[in-house]
Amino acid sequence: LSDRLADTFRNLRTKGKLSAADVDGTVREIRRALLDADVALEVVKDFTGKVRERALSDEVNRALNPAQQVVQIVNEELIQILGGQQRRLEFAKKPPTVIMLAGLQGAGKTTLAGKLAKWLAKDGHTPMLVAADLQRPNAVNQLQVVGQQAGVAVYAPEPGNGVGNPVRVAKDSIKYAVDKQYDTVIVDTAGRLGVDAELMKQAADIRKAVDPDEVLFVIDAMIGQDAVATARAFQEGVDFTGVVLSKLDGDARGGAALSVASVTGRPIIFASTGESLDDFEPFHPDRMASRILDLGDILTLIEQAQSAFDEEEARKVAEKFATDSFTLDDFLKQMQQLRKAGSIKNMLGMLPGAGGLKQQLENFDEKEIVRTEAIIQSMTKQERTNPKILNGSRRLRIAKGSGMTVTDVNQLVQRFEQAAKMMKTVAKGGMPNIPGMGPV
Ligand code: GDP
Ligand code: MG
Repeated sequence: LSDRLADTFRNLRTKGKLSAADVDGTVREIRRALLDADVALEVVKDFTGKVRERALSDEVNRALNPAQQVVQIVNEELIQILGGQQRRLEFAKKPPTVIMLAGLQGAGKTTLAGKLAKWLAKDGHTPMLVAADLQRPNAVNQLQVVGQQAGVAVYAPEPGNGVGNPVRVAKDSIKYAVDKQYDTVIVDTAGRLGVDAELMKQAADIRKAVDPDEVLFVIDAMIGQDAVATARAFQEGVDFTGVVLSKLDGDARGGAALSVASVTGRPIIFASTGESLDDFEPFHPDRMASRILDLGDILTLIEQAQSAFDEEEARKVAEKFATDSFTLDDFLKQMQQLRKAGSIKNMLGMLPGAGGLKQQLENFDEKEIVRTEAIIQSMTKQERTNPKILNGSRRLRIAKGSGMTVTDVNQLVQRFEQAAKMMKTVAKGGMPNIPGMGPV
């Protein structure tokens, strides 16, 4: 999606005044790009119709820079479809807050239950997970494992207690939560590979039994054209208050988000971006829009980095990037800190134009950090500060000292240089000028 849109806007940017033909050409490209990204046809039609209408209006003719105005319109309309403002989780006035999860099998509900619980616990809540998926033999166990990883309690039927009744389990769990004073209850439910009536009825019954404050519909972002039919079926069958897009770490970027948000009118509340419990974030419509526009999710990147760095540190590093005084010590420190903020690959994947760097990014393996530590720790202070002095004999000494090969040392230095160069570009460019988006 992104590459094509970027090309379109690049062409547009080089032009002066816009003609109707320019607008039509651009709209045609946007349509094609969205269809390629598996956005549902009806959503594409609706979207491009609005963009075309606004692009041909006076608002654009009067603009100083008509091409930029069109980009802004596309950005605004994308944000609009994606729900406008960021929508936060609703908490019950009287605890416990009950959050029910619904969606197809494999959508990522059980994983999300753990992510959400961990996130809430970090925020001072006392969440409890409920195993109301009694369909698959292993489902209860899976939730227990996830609960353990998240460090939260799991309410499950006694093992050996037969097939059990998920509606009953869900209902009992609420009483239990009140009793034990858990302030949030996250109810995991069963899914099927496809939409079916029995599944819908069970989910609807659970909904009735637990009277949730939020029903989150979890949908795999890679689902493509099926997104619309699936979302509609769940909206009719169970109804939901919000959407969670899972597997946003895959190739699909935006297609399902646009379709589901547009067709159901329900806000996307969270994004799930990997298999680990930390790969999870609140969904920001404006950032998703700019992601779709290939501007890179710079804001999320910075925010993630800042949750690991303290702000002062981040500022220092940014300055070092920009002024070329970034050292191997900084590199190591940064790698260690980035590890806290989620996988490095994820972070770098959010940089604009990072698609082309994919090959290089593959080198940023978590395991590398350990080896990197060993190598850098074998360097002298001077070498770390000024890697340029690392000649052959120094490299050999470092290799021996760290138990690595000279090739390992060479590769590290090379990666350091690449990273420094890349981050310098980003730091120099500063925040991209995204229309409609203020500074952080
Ligand atoms: P459920 O059937 O809806 O409960 O789905 P699960 O939570 O069991 O997830 C199904 C599979 O998708 C598991 O292998 C998860 O590890 C994986 N998964 C879940 N969320 C994500 C995500 O955001 N990204 C990726 N890459 N995989 C995910
Ligand atoms: Mg599950």
